[in-house]
Amino acid sequence: MKIPFNKPFLTGKEAHYIYQAVYSGKISGNGELTQRCQAFMKNRLGCHKTLMTTSCTDALEMVAILLNIGPGDEVIVPSFTFVSTANAFVLRGAKIVFVDSEKGHPNLDAARLEELITEKTRAIVAVHYAGMACDMDVIMQIAEKHKIYVVEDAAQAIDSFYNGKPLGSIGHFATFSFHETKNIISGEGGMLCINDEQFAARSEVIWEKGTNRAAFFRGEVDKYGWIDVGASFLPSEVISAFLWAQLESIDNIQQRRLAIWARYKACFDALKPEGVMVSPIPPYATNNAHMFFIVFDQGQRRNDFIKYLKDRGIHAVFHYQSLHSSPYYTDKHDGRELKMSGYYSEGLVRLPLFYELSENDLDHITSTIEQFFG
Ligand SMILES: *Cc1c(COP(=O)(O)O)cnc(C)c1O
Repeated sequence: MKIPFNKPFLTGKEAHYIYQAVYSGKISGNGELTQRCQAFMKNRLGCHKTLMTTSCTDALEMVAILLNIGPGDEVIVPSFTFVSTANAFVLRGAKIVFVDSEKGHPNLDAARLEELITEKTRAIVAVHYAGMACDMDVIMQIAEKHKIYVVEDAAQAIDSFYNGKPLGSIGHFATFSFHETKNIISGEGGMLCINDEQFAARSEVIWEKGTNRAAFFRGEVDKYGWIDVGASFLPSEVISAFLWAQLESIDNIQQRRLAIWARYKACFDALKPEGVMVSPIPPYATNNAHMFFIVFDQGQRRNDFIKYLKDRGIHAVFHYQSLHSSPYYTDKHDGRELKMSGYYSEGLVRLPLFYELSENDLDHITSTIEQFFG
């Protein structure tokens, strides 16, 4: 038996919509399927504007351009996250001020934010780790008080909520990912949400290579030209066609993932292993079954666990290496120790979680876990 960590799920309609896009006569971006995906997500989240992008990384880079981030600016980012969260702002010349994670879960510790804010701080990036919400009311209040912006890195957070509000609808901006490792996929793909209206018009220009082509397509201007900086952030219709097939099945996909998550949870509820944190969910957050993770107090035991599963055909993985002590950033970091980030780096494991994981697979995984702890 060989159980991979992830297997991209296909609904079966992807090729159909791609065929439609290819023969529609418009294969480049901002066509009918792109607009369909954007409208679907805008309605579902209730945000002001949505723009499909070629990745969440690109959506974050668009935010950095929209905020005119430049040398001398500081952006607060958790150290325990994917590189793109920080890299988008580093590309514009900003200094990253890393914030540590909470003791009870890997999200940023909102109680540590105010001590990190200076007159140079322009934005806070709240990463909803494993799709579970950061404490957004606290973060938004701090941002309002200091007149800085909040970006939700919602790459993992589709179909998840903070006190009833959809993640992605709360910060001034939010970014989503449709990379094949996420719940809803298009191979590579992403989306930018604009919740602060003042950025809506310019976002479309930056998206379309610094031109007002989107407005031209709508017949709002009689010619289009170069009016600002920009890049080619929009995906082709082929990507949006793939994504549309997935979005149509979002409720079905989520239902299956949640059922798998619940089986892992039940397994650990019965075991209650000592010295192990089991996928915690803060009271204000929901679970979107992006990930099932556990955290060992001791890194060596984590590595033993991964090896034990591997020897029995189960591929479990760890991540992230703390960004503040990464080869690229370590000599740029201000030297503060970020203990909790280190704890998650060394102790966290993610179990296989994908739509086609069968009950049979789950029996094998859970009984292997029981053997390890038993
Ligand atoms: C996956 C991920 C990204 C990057 O998404 P891409 O679409 O691959 O660019 C950024 N941030 C977080 C937290 C992620 O999990």
